[in-house]
Amino acid sequence: MSERLAVIGDPIAHSLSPAMQTAALRRAGLAWSYTAERVPALALSRTVARLRDEGFRGFNVTIPHKAAIRPLLDREDPLATRVGAVNTVVREGGELIGYNTDVDGFAAALHRLDPPPGTPAVVFGAGGAARAVLLALMQSGMWPTVVGRDLDRARSAARVAGAATRAMTYDDPALAGVLAAAGAVVNATPLGMGRLAGRSPLPPGAALAGGCVAIDLVYGGETAFVRQARARGLRVTDGLQMLIEQGALAFTLWTGLEADRDEMRRACLRVIQDRAAC
Ligand code: NAP
Repeated sequence: MSERLAVIGDPIAHSLSPAMQTAALRRAGLAWSYTAERVPALALSRTVARLRDEGFRGFNVTIPHKAAIRPLLDREDPLATRVGAVNTVVREGGELIGYNTDVDGFAAALHRLDPPPGTPAVVFGAGGAARAVLLALMQSGMWPTVVGRDLDRARSAARVAGAATRAMTYDDPALAGVLAAAGAVVNATPLGMGRLAGRSPLPPGAALAGGCVAIDLVYGGETAFVRQARARGLRVTDGLQMLIEQGALAFTLWTGLEADRDEMRRACLRVIQDRAAC
């Protein structure tokens, strides 16, 4: 049976999900569709009602709807409740169920780099993605510290990973010491993309340990954060790995099948190359 899937957000034109998921569906032999819909905040409620009425098998949810969608669903997975964000919705019976695959998607990208276990980690950014990252780091046995522009927002994000999780601002004198001891540093800000290209949250002279790994959530080209980390000899991954992993987990929730991650990566790289050529 042919089913329909979608991604909703605003903006949405930049999303790689339609190309990535369509490639995985074709590879699995499924004649399903996956489309992108730009949904402004005011249209979220009626869009969810429409997707429900039209019998969509499920959809992805991106900025700015990951928290706002929660009350519009019938149930949510405990991980989504813990993070306070839903990025994947699945229709089961007549119900819409919210999941968060960003946590396990980030964890999969992290484990590929094999960071030193039981070490501190530094997460730049205190938004929705940072919360998923914090929980994944904590579940992986690391000790995350959140660094944000606003201490209250950083503290609020830190609570996701437990009351003992540290939070600080960029000008905190303790930041240099935390970075020097870190086994992982993560960019969970938009620095490095769009009009923020060329910028990085990592302080220019920061000393990092030799075994430290670096993960940028931004994708679509080599960012300043990735360049800084490579220059220090760190093992590095950009946001494409997490994007593919979270998408592959969503694919399995909808179809019950394993996604071909290599095929998804090839589809993403084709779109990135086409856009760079324009
Ligand atoms: P968000 O909820 O809007 O949070 C963004 C965070 O970045 C906030 O903490 C914000 O700080 C901080 N920030 C924004 N501009 C900044 C600046 N100029 N300098 C320093 N910090 C700044 O967004 P999000 O959903 O967490 O997403 C963050 C990034 O991760 C985006 O680039 C997104 O595309 C990417 N992402 C990638 C994946 C993936 O699969 N690869 C998944 C999810 C998200 P304040 O709190 O001070 O406002």
